[in-house]
Amino acid sequence: MYDNEDPAPSRYDPAPSRYDLLVVGSANADLVVGVERRPAPGETVLGSDLVVHPGGKGANQAVAAARLGARTALLARVGDDAHGRLLCESQRAAGVDTGPVLVGGAPTGVALITVDPSGDNSIVVSPGANARLTPADIRAAGPLFAAARIVSVQLEIPLETVAETARALAPGTRLVLNPSPPAPLPADVLAACDPLVVNEHEARYILGILGQDAGSAPQDWAGALLAHGPRSVVVTLGAGGALVADSRGGGPVHLPSPKVDAVDTTGAGDAFTAALAWRLGLGEELAEAAAFAVWVGAAAVTRQGAQASFPTAQEVAAP
Ligand code: ATP
Repeated sequence: MYDNEDPAPSRYDPAPSRYDLLVVGSANADLVVGVERRPAPGETVLGSDLVVHPGGKGANQAVAAARLGARTALLARVGDDAHGRLLCESQRAAGVDTGPVLVGGAPTGVALITVDPSGDNSIVVSPGANARLTPADIRAAGPLFAAARIVSVQLEIPLETVAETARALAPGTRLVLNPSPPAPLPADVLAACDPLVVNEHEARYILGILGQDAGSAPQDWAGALLAHGPRSVVVTLGAGGALVADSRGGGPVHLPSPKVDAVDTTGAGDAFTAALAWRLGLGEELAEAAAFAVWVGAAAVTRQGAQASFPTAQEVAAP
């Protein structure tokens, strides 16, 4: 929390439904340098000017939701440093409430990214403060959970913090979990997902560790994952749109993505998940919310960057 925010404990405003969406997750500074080629061990190469972008899946989702018009809060941890201030500023510029953002304990998380002339990335992530977002931080934020219609979380923070997030949900509040980067999920976390949102790679990984045949056709994945405990499942398929399956009824439904000229798919998954979570929090059915989210994901791929590519609701030409 930086100096233009309320001091604790009023940072956790208990007003019911104050937020359409609470995002619990990571915030990273992405440090990007272009290189002709990567250095060999012991070698130094010169690169382009440094470009710093705000990133991290939690921060991305919060910005994507706020840009669509959702009243959004971010519960994350950053360092007491310039990157932390940059990240909070980009959140506030998008309209996200950064009051819950915790400061200190380690440097802000960074992604060190080199890009070669063919566009291939090499990335080293230093989780920094993201790794210090603890279960105790989640417990201390209890009233925030009572103030949110829906909670979204990813796996760029410690798994025990994700598990505590699932336990902190107020009665009737849905948890949207995107297991990225993929990791084995405890059964109680899997059971709390409503929905579990996975891309093709994450779907294969999770089906694999659950001992299920991930070689089956993608249209079978949503149903197969549903059988392992989540209340609902969404599988995103890039240009192929998304599949949804809900334990409360109806077979898996396919939502096609609109055809667009894709220029950069970075952040498409975060844009999709944020849009889905927001619309579910407003009370839409899963297939209805996903039908909107595929348009948001498609709009995001028509522009460069992650946060810079996220559309407003007016820019999404959803039917
Ligand atoms: P990323 O890691 O690039 O952020 P992801 O792998 O998590 O994305 P995807 O399944 O690639 O997620 O994309 C999420 C959603 O974005 C898709 O369901 C779709 O709606 C939209 N999308 C992604 N790529 C395209 C594309 N080429 N054309 C149209 N829509 C797309």
